Amino acid sequence: MINIALFGPPGAGKGTQSAALAKSFNLYYISTGELLRKELAAESKLGLEAKGIIAAGGLVPDEIIVQIIEKTITEHPEANGFLFDGFPRTYVQCYILEGLMSKLNSSLSCLICLEVEEEESVARLLKRAATSGRSDDNEAVIRNRMSEYREKTLPVLQFYREKGIYAAVNGGNSVEQVRKDVEAIVKAEIRRRPVHIVLFGYPGSGRGSQGKALAKHFDLEFVATGPMLDSEIARQTPLGKKVQALYENGLLVSDEIVVPLIENKLEESKDVRGFVYKGFPRTLVQSYILDGLIRKRGASITQVIDIGLPTLELIMRLDARSKTNSCMPYDSTTAKIVQRLQDHENKTVPVVEKYAQIHGVTKVDGSGSFEGVFERLKAIVEKTIWAS
Ligand code: AMP
Repeated sequence: MINIALFGPPGAGKGTQSAALAKSFNLYYISTGELLRKELAAESKLGLEAKGIIAAGGLVPDEIIVQIIEKTITEHPEANGFLFDGFPRTYVQCYILEGLMSKLNSSLSCLICLEVEEEESVARLLKRAATSGRSDDNEAVIRNRMSEYREKTLPVLQFYREKGIYAAVNGGNSVEQVRKDVEAIVKAEIRRRPVHIVLFGYPGSGRGSQGKALAKHFDLEFVATGPMLDSEIARQTPLGKKVQALYENGLLVSDEIVVPLIENKLEESKDVRGFVYKGFPRTLVQSYILDGLIRKRGASITQVIDIGLPTLELIMRLDARSKTNSCMPYDSTTAKIVQRLQDHENKTVPVVEKYAQIHGVTKVDGSGSFEGVFERLKAIVEKTIWAS
């Protein structure tokens, strides 16, 4: 989840920039000012309480602000993240935001300040007054909003400077330039947080070769339990010998063997862009294990993809592979192939169904050429990485 707060004096262009930003990164936009104006228009109890304060250019009490934000956040658990405009507006509201975010098991990723000279802001607001129809867009009230900003809102910057999540752009530039600058900051922020992509598909669906290619293309770490176990076998480590025996009988490898291997891989790959998991989780128990492993790193699963292919096509592909050099010990006979397909159906399909309920699963058609499927997967992963 990425949560951004757009900051700046009234008239800095927060509203204009928010529209573009929310769209580019699929963030849920929360403008406290806009929410308050809706309450005002609906003449709700909250709206009536806030009416006079807004018209005078003052700040609405925190009790009201918390209510409207809390409601909006909890109503949108599916959001990729939130974009705040006009909040936090006081030093105290910074703590309120921290509290609200911790309720979502998240935190503010970055506060971006649109720096604009006061007189430029006033001039922009006076121009906007001609068309906005806002009760607070007139010179006397604008001056009051500016003085509230200077006294009560500017200290917010210090809070986020100290937290190290503060960035500024020159809001005096053209709308297009400001948009580019703000997007660059958000992209840099996204790059800092590794993605965790889980790739599913029946044996023979191409998940292995596609996963490897995706990892290479996006500079992600490929976490595939199969190749990790193969390397143990190739090196004939004690663990490798055990695994070999299980493979030859077409059996699944126990969690006690697999988990330390994954744990090591995650530990070794601290500064990577993200991970593609293939062949794990294979069971519901393993899905809890993976959630735990990722959570230990302060993250959660970013995306789940399921490559689909008709059963006959799967069998033909696995059968063809069993006759080539890339034949795996576990697909050397028809009985073993059938066993693996059954295992997937009985144990792994329920995992995909569980993820479908929690995160949503992106289904990808696995038929056609390798390149064709790769293009489809690439487009999906690209979107996830930029959360666009
Ligand atoms: P805006 O649309 O952000 O310019 O906000 C318009 C008015 O709504 C402000 O002048 C305040 O009266 C009120 N308001 C908006 N956000 C807040 C907030 N976070 N805290 C207190 N008052 C707010």
